[in-house]
Amino acid sequence: MDVVFWGARGSVPCSSKQKIHYGTNTPCLEVVLSDHERMVFDAGTGLVSLGNHLEKLGFPNCGVVHLFLSHFHWDHVQGLPFFKVVYRKETTLRLYGQPGIELAFSRQMTAPFSPVPFGALPAKIEVVTINKPVMVGDARITPVPLHHPQGCYAYVLEHRGRKVVYATDTEPDHGPMDEKLAEAAGGASLLIMDSNNAVEEVPLRKGWGHSTWKDCVAMAKRAKVSKLVLFHHDPFHDDEEVSKKQRLAQELFPESVCAYEGMRVKVEARV
Ligand SMILES: [Zn+2]
Repeated sequence: MDVVFWGARGSVPCSSKQKIHYGTNTPCLEVVLSDHERMVFDAGTGLVSLGNHLEKLGFPNCGVVHLFLSHFHWDHVQGLPFFKVVYRKETTLRLYGQPGIELAFSRQMTAPFSPVPFGALPAKIEVVTINKPVMVGDARITPVPLHHPQGCYAYVLEHRGRKVVYATDTEPDHGPMDEKLAEAAGGASLLIMDSNNAVEEVPLRKGWGHSTWKDCVAMAKRAKVSKLVLFHHDPFHDDEEVSKKQRLAQELFPESVCAYEGMRVKVEARV
């Protein structure tokens, strides 16, 4: 199983020479299960790059595309109108997530914000509201509610002895939600987690729904995961600041890395 990061930035794409290494596209992950199976997590602006990539490959295995949405804040949905797959009538795009998927995209893709209404996209769109595990082929995907304004889902993906946890946009509640995430992430091969805030920014950002690299390390240790990917980098943090976050995390949890655009992580089964 490979996890490809098409967008690792949070909140808003904001390109500059100082942010080229980690990139500024907002959240989108591609999980390649095999030559003929893939799924996508989040529809941030990274989804646009994934669409270009799939076009170059000739849209392989795009009969049905499975896309799991963590939530509907802009940085997680803004790429969908520019995802080339949605302009193919041969494709069924199956969108999974919390209640309100159709309403969120119909409101986003409507005049005066968009020339193409959501309902007029050529691809067949199917909406699947979930609050318990779903199977896609022999992969099992479990939603786990996170502590974030308007709610957010983490997703636990299990496939042939591999377990990957995608937990973006979450602020520690130091209570039951942290406990549920730790339990769900227990023994994962890979934990991908929101590391948006610098530690010194926390007092100014209470209730905004984000974590620090320290929260990620604490969760990685608590859940005994093999590898930690720090994700959802703050749009105001340049490459130097993001690299500093990686160094600090590695001092406490050596198997830590900051996600960057184009990063591909091979996930092995744990023995
Ligand atoms: Zn976000």
